[in-house]
Amino acid sequence: MIEQQQLTPAIFLDRDGTLIEEVNFLSRVDDLRIFPFTKTALEQFSAAGFLLFVVTNQSGIGRGLFTAEDMQNIHKALREEFGSLIRGFYYCPHLPDAGCDCRKPNTALIERAAGEHNIDLSRSWFIGDKDLDIQTGVNAGLKTCLVLTGYGMEHKETLGSLPTLIADNIGEAARKIVTFLQD
Ligand SMILES: [Mg+2]
Ligand SMILES: [Zn+2]
Repeated sequence: MIEQQQLTPAIFLDRDGTLIEEVNFLSRVDDLRIFPFTKTALEQFSAAGFLLFVVTNQSGIGRGLFTAEDMQNIHKALREEFGSLIRGFYYCPHLPDAGCDCRKPNTALIERAAGEHNIDLSRSWFIGDKDLDIQTGVNAGLKTCLVLTGYGMEHKETLGSLPTLIADNIGEAARKIVTFLQD
């Protein structure tokens, strides 16, 4: 008999403007500003049984504005802050016009994370501050949440598809999503 692989729901998180303050092409740990409500939100998601992944477009690498190592230093600082709450960081280093399959709103990074961690996409969410993030979630068949931090306020007005939820920030997103599950 073949044993059924246990699948886990996940929250895929945009990085800039969602977990941390939006800084154009963040490249230095000194400029990293984590929102005060982010860690509690991640703890709530984790307690509700979600695995957490960051999915981020980092075209600053392709543009030569910073190196992959600079970005890894920022992810290392986030790991130090959040401990093991974030299970993986997935990023696209390419230019917007490179035609890669990993830059959001493409879904290769989500599919890779899902394969590596046995994720049930039908019970998973994408959270971000841009229309692009909502589109990524829709493209991957996820539920979606727009946060109004970062570019959220601006992008709220011109969304290509309506998100499942809109939240003021990642803290409210955690409360709403955990409640959403209980409804
Ligand atoms: Mg963002
Ligand atoms: Zn890419």
